[in-house]
Amino acid sequence: MLKSFHSISPIRFSVLIPWFFFLSMDIKIGLVSYGNITSLSITPIEKSFVYINEKKIENSFDIYSYKDKIKLDEDNKVSFLKEVKIKINGTVKIKSKKKERYYKGTIEVKNLKGFLFMVNTVDLEDYVLSVTDSETRHMKNVEAIKANAIAIRSYAIAAGNRHEKQGYNFCDLTHCQLYKGFKDIREKTYKAVRETSGVIMEFDKKPIWAMYHSVCGGATENAKDVWNYDTMPYLVSVKDDIGFKTLCSEGWGYRWRTKIRIKRFERFLQKSVFKNKAEKFVEISNIVYTHSGRVKSLDIISDKRKIAISGINFYHIIGRELGWMAIKSTAFTVSRDNKYIIFDGKGYGHGVGMCQAGADKMGELGYACKDILNHYYEGIKIVKYSYGND
Ligand SMILES: [Zn+2]
Ligand SMILES: [Zn+2]
Repeated sequence: MLKSFHSISPIRFSVLIPWFFFLSMDIKIGLVSYGNITSLSITPIEKSFVYINEKKIENSFDIYSYKDKIKLDEDNKVSFLKEVKIKINGTVKIKSKKKERYYKGTIEVKNLKGFLFMVNTVDLEDYVLSVTDSETRHMKNVEAIKANAIAIRSYAIAAGNRHEKQGYNFCDLTHCQLYKGFKDIREKTYKAVRETSGVIMEFDKKPIWAMYHSVCGGATENAKDVWNYDTMPYLVSVKDDIGFKTLCSEGWGYRWRTKIRIKRFERFLQKSVFKNKAEKFVEISNIVYTHSGRVKSLDIISDKRKIAISGINFYHIIGRELGWMAIKSTAFTVSRDNKYIIFDGKGYGHGVGMCQAGADKMGELGYACKDILNHYYEGIKIVKYSYGND
């Protein structure tokens, strides 16, 4: 979620099923980050073991896609199955050509058009543990990490139907929240998640879409100005300072400058915007800014026409073509010299909700996680739900 600008849609909570039902629900995560893979090697770690379709396995085994089936190779015994359900007791290492991660819970492996696809099921607190570790590796302060864990848990409950059509709750990328499994979880993460177990933020008695991002650059952004959303009155722009001090000024990407050769920029526009190799770039003009200084829209002028484009779309197109580090946020000004077009920007990420660098600073200054949350989310209530055993 750090870098994601994708559009989001809120769920309507049914009157019949109270939302807190979600607290006791398992979370299904589609492990899309593995990409198109045709083989996997699975190893139970230390004293762990797994059950595959009721059969106990303690050693390493391999899985391949084979036509429309799954080939399971365990100790040189080969079987062909429609799908494989791995119940993990402990932790397993799952290795593909490019990736090696550790997982708990249950993993269902399917053959989707010749490629292996995994869905991992864990309980909410384990999901929060993994995401908190994945999304806060750059944060130091435990109170700030606690605040982020509460945001992650709230978001997990509010946004649980994002991938309903694909048959799981979340993907493992920043499109939802980054979920990298359970390898080398930091002690700070365990502490932050344990100490906030069952705690979420509510607005109007419903869990909130608790967005967060790396560095706001001085002020956070209204959700309405990024996604045209009017239903999130708790996601409003706040100045990220206390007294005279900007909280995230030491954060990576607080200020940045990117220079792109005009020839290269023109080639990018010809390919992705003009869709015409002969059209010439003239200038960027008529930049409209939001209240917090982010680009709402701009015009790209060519020798043939004027194309109006939203700040978010511009960010997306440029990110896909020139890399996501080129333009780190939509808070930028544009200038040019003979050779280059120059973007001077503030912050890293969409700027909505909690600024992680600012939160880390607040923690360092002695603020508690509830103070941090109240600074970034407007009018929220922090509520603790019990799992029945704590
Ligand atoms: Zn997703
Ligand atoms: Zn900030």
